[in-house]
Amino acid sequence: MSENKTPEKKAPVKKKVVSASTGKEMSKEDIAQAKKENAKVSQAVAAAQAAPEGKSKKLRIGAILLWIGAIACEVLAVMIVVGKRFPGLSAIKPMWLMIIFLVLDLILLVLGSQLWKKANHIAPISGKNKVKFWIWNNMGIIVAAIAFIPFIVLLLLNKEVDAKTKAIVSIVAVIALAIGAVSGYDFNSLSKEQLLAATADEHIGQGVYWITTGGTVYHIDQECFTLNNTEDLKFGTINQAAEEGHTRLCYYCAKRHDVSSEVGIEAQPFNEVEDTTVLEEEAEATFTEENAPAEEEPAA
Ligand SMILES: [Zn+2]
Repeated sequence: MSENKTPEKKAPVKKKVVSASTGKEMSKEDIAQAKKENAKVSQAVAAAQAAPEGKSKKLRIGAILLWIGAIACEVLAVMIVVGKRFPGLSAIKPMWLMIIFLVLDLILLVLGSQLWKKANHIAPISGKNKVKFWIWNNMGIIVAAIAFIPFIVLLLLNKEVDAKTKAIVSIVAVIALAIGAVSGYDFNSLSKEQLLAATADEHIGQGVYWITTGGTVYHIDQECFTLNNTEDLKFGTINQAAEEGHTRLCYYCAKRHDVSSEVGIEAQPFNEVEDTTVLEEEAEATFTEENAPAEEEPAA
């Protein structure tokens, strides 16, 4: 193979760019169009961010009240399991009463989760603490567990309830738990850093590229030298990149576009360049052409 090597700079391989939204291959025109659309979206995100801080607080309070209501319904359903009867509702069979309370439980839970997610989109928290970020964004799942699992356990352990009622009501509760958990999960969870990055820099807001086969970084330029040997790229929004695990902006793309480190983007040291097959000499050649990065990233 070494005899094929020429002193001239190797031409970058031809790239195939696939849309993260549609999975279809994108032409140059498609990408330009998508960038235009994304720019509109990032303006909308900026507008959402400009919503008064108080609005997200109100949404959170609403979510918590609805969740408390959901758990109260669960408590009522549990009371029926343990034999408590409500005088005003004696016309309804206990099994149906349990189902009614579970449905109310689910409705309140889902409404609460929607408000919670909306609040998170207006005022996202920092993604730096991964555990806290996950818990905060998936609070709906945690509340779903609290709102159904104790009921299911107490129902199944109860010796007074007949087998048929147990079977029917526990199936209803498990389905409700599943619906509640899915509705509580935020498929578009956004960190404060991502929101800032998407709005702070017009290049990122218009869309980014990442390697289809792996890695953790994303790029502003399709022509980034670290992608010279990469054929398969994806194009999409910064959030789509994050969903696929590409959460860091490429060090070189950040430098080239002068994206501030204040937006929370982690710099990527050279030895972690995504495509490790990039030839060292090629990298060096690029450094002499462009301004070589400093040994250490200057502190922000
Ligand atoms: Zn790059």
